[in-house]
Amino acid sequence: MAKLVPPHGGKGLTTCLLEGAELEAEKKKAEGLKKVEVSPRVKGDLIMIGIGGFSPLTGFMTKADWKGVVDSCLLADGTFWPVPVCLDVTKEDAADINVGDEIALYDPEGDEIMATMQITEKFEMTDADKTYECEKVFMGEGTPTAEEFWKIAKEDHPGVQMVMGQKEVNLAGPVKVLSEGEYPTKYAGIYHRPAESRKIFENAGWSEVAALQLRNPMHRSHEYLCKIAVEVCDGVYIHSLVGNLKPGDIPAEVRVKCIDSLVKNYFVEENVVQGGYPLDMRYAGPREGLLHAVFRQNYGCSKMIIGRDHSGVGDFYGMFEAQTIFDKIPTPAEEGKALVCTPLKIDWTFYCYKCDGMASLRTCPHTKEDRVLLSGTMLRKMLSEGGELPDHFGRDEVVAILRDYYEGLTEKVEIKTHKAATGD
Ligand SMILES: [Zn+2]
Repeated sequence: MAKLVPPHGGKGLTTCLLEGAELEAEKKKAEGLKKVEVSPRVKGDLIMIGIGGFSPLTGFMTKADWKGVVDSCLLADGTFWPVPVCLDVTKEDAADINVGDEIALYDPEGDEIMATMQITEKFEMTDADKTYECEKVFMGEGTPTAEEFWKIAKEDHPGVQMVMGQKEVNLAGPVKVLSEGEYPTKYAGIYHRPAESRKIFENAGWSEVAALQLRNPMHRSHEYLCKIAVEVCDGVYIHSLVGNLKPGDIPAEVRVKCIDSLVKNYFVEENVVQGGYPLDMRYAGPREGLLHAVFRQNYGCSKMIIGRDHSGVGDFYGMFEAQTIFDKIPTPAEEGKALVCTPLKIDWTFYCYKCDGMASLRTCPHTKEDRVLLSGTMLRKMLSEGGELPDHFGRDEVVAILRDYYEGLTEKVEIKTHKAATGD
């Protein structure tokens, strides 16, 4: 029988989401615990830990984990892991929390307790620590020196702003997750737990599954990437971010509608599955590409589609840095500790008039003038300004959905483009 790729870490899916009587008992207990407010990023991380999306993690990282991950993409036990997953709290909150205590993690937005946590370690995150993390995790080929990086990072890099804005103390320890927030109801049918996506793939008889990461509306280039993957795998999992984005990004429900319409009109429906995941973007470019591969492996995908400037922001990363990083990561020998999901690296794709179809830099010999350069950022910019789109930029059905959305907006948002979006 066909077999899916095993979850990362060699321990199966490590879920910490409670259900039934156990959940009710833990909820009751949580009411009596000290409550600590969590950020939207931590909320997403908690849900991923809860449903096994972050297997083998079962809680927030220790100082040794943090250091190992930041320095060399390895947890303290030698398992591959590309970005820190830490819980930050204020000095005031930390003052009366001690190792051995249990606390409740409270989401102010949803007004509910998301999880309980057993504290195993408490460590300070100084500005120097945060600066170090930013330089190791976010500095790419676009800003190869710390000086160039910091000149623009504080203003223009949302990931850096998030890390530098973290509170002063980190708490480590295992969690018991009590809620998946609004995701199961708001995105019913789209939001999957890894065990669910695995079941869907198994029922379809798939073993080689490629994941397409989406945070922008699906345009012609995404469709092309997806179709290349369909040709060489058993199926494709179109996996959209339904967590928080930055201002100006298009809400998940609109993006989901676009994907539905594309799949219905332009795909063999049996060969694709659409899903959503609850994380926020970290804008960590290459490192985030690795994280995407780690959790897609947990969702049952053996391949991760990595195109141009994957998870990039501004001009911080090299166009194909998120592809080449896969060739440089540590590959621990111990069973399960190395990343198994491999990248499906695809060059810059576009519509070419002379080729009379979609092509990439590897297949099309023509010039820039013959090509319609497609980027989600450009698409959003042109739509938000109400302009006409060039032919072949997007599928009519998708453009119509996006036009509707932009016409309904009361406040126009300015969308910044960068070098990549202009094709220079
Ligand atoms: Zn061409």
